[in-house]
Amino acid sequence: MDLTYKRKNVLKEVDEEEKEVVFSYAEGYKTFLDNGKTEREAVAETIAMAKKAGYKEYALGQKIEPGDKLFFNNRGKSLFLIKAGKKELIEEGIRILVAHVDSPRLDLKQVPLYEKNELAYLKTHYYGGIKKYQWMTIPLALHGVIVKKDGSKVEVKVGENDDDPVFYVTDLLPHLSQEQNEKKVSVAFNPEKLNILVGAIPLPEEEKDAVKKGVLEILNKLYGISEEDFLSAEIEAVPAFKARDVGFDRALVASYGHDDRVCAYPEITATLGTETDRTVMTILADKEEIGSEGNTGMQCDLIADLIDCIADGYGVSSALLRARSKCLSADVTAAYDPAYADAFEEKNVAYLGKGVAMNKFTGARGKSGSNDASAEYVGFLRCLFEKEGVIWQTGELGRVDLGGGGTVAKYLANRNIDTVDLGVPVLSMHAPYELIGKADLYQAHKAFSAFIK
Ligand code: MN
Ligand code: MN
Repeated sequence: MDLTYKRKNVLKEVDEEEKEVVFSYAEGYKTFLDNGKTEREAVAETIAMAKKAGYKEYALGQKIEPGDKLFFNNRGKSLFLIKAGKKELIEEGIRILVAHVDSPRLDLKQVPLYEKNELAYLKTHYYGGIKKYQWMTIPLALHGVIVKKDGSKVEVKVGENDDDPVFYVTDLLPHLSQEQNEKKVSVAFNPEKLNILVGAIPLPEEEKDAVKKGVLEILNKLYGISEEDFLSAEIEAVPAFKARDVGFDRALVASYGHDDRVCAYPEITATLGTETDRTVMTILADKEEIGSEGNTGMQCDLIADLIDCIADGYGVSSALLRARSKCLSADVTAAYDPAYADAFEEKNVAYLGKGVAMNKFTGARGKSGSNDASAEYVGFLRCLFEKEGVIWQTGELGRVDLGGGGTVAKYLANRNIDTVDLGVPVLSMHAPYELIGKADLYQAHKAFSAFIK
């Protein structure tokens, strides 16, 4: 009898039939990635999927009753799917899945447009944790909304079609980088230099800012805006890359924004595709990358309000309902990277291709800022996954004291809900083009389906 713990390689473990499912499932995911590069687009894409599955729009305060299938669109930037289960099962609480749909990117500043030496640029302020140099010299697309002075809203999406222009942040040529090369990486790349090149043709009749004025004329023609309209705009520069298979055997997918759509997508397919008598709440959160603040982030009271509405509808105590609820905080974790082996602790890090990864805790230093899930809750999930044939592994962000990170887990747990992090391991996390394994993605779908069944 082998008493040792070993991770399993999913594609070595599963039969041909499941292997095929793993690969075909990833096709749907790639489409989801390309159609939903921002939190707003991912929410819109999910609403369309939910409507097809019979979900109806919910208005806050409305009574929630057994059998209801509802979606609550929170300001177009975060989304709650509520599947109201059988009354008898409400005693067992709500099964909650939460992933986030915001990803690191470059946001435009509120007065972004300027001209320097007959080149027009947009100034940016980066969002989330990025390595600044990774965002230079790659094709960027602009996505977002502009709210005009009259209150009307226009949507912007340029750089995604093959015949669209893309946008670009320059970097210094290596021939002249001697001084730059001597600097520490943390100071070598000034975020005020992450300006996006958007035009180079001067208007012939203009003396000053002739290129900038030319760009404004184009924007006016396209969107009916003037420079002032940027004041009330949210425009995000994201990589213009499409999701692509990686490797001769196509086991991996490269894309922008795997963190955390690689958990959001299986969360959605599990919710829409699983027959269950339980009450399920599936959340797509915003603002995770900047601390889950604000009224579209998971620190907002909205989740408690929605649980209150469910408790009201079922005539049960909200406090009891929360205490009995269980949550999977579906977020990515770092995958072991052999090229940077030093950064990880080999026994406890998650590995690409070895299943969906559970992080009992996250945080920094002495687990600071972490929801450290209980052995009991981890044990409960272990039994469940064993029974349902989910291949999973344990994970830890990296070597102790090297850095750290957090997820929304603690904001759920702080509301007296058993919560643990379960998600897909990612290579090159927060890079403009991240990498995941198709096998792990499908195990996430299986894990989330098992959890809500
Ligand atoms: Mn994340
Ligand atoms: Mn992240």
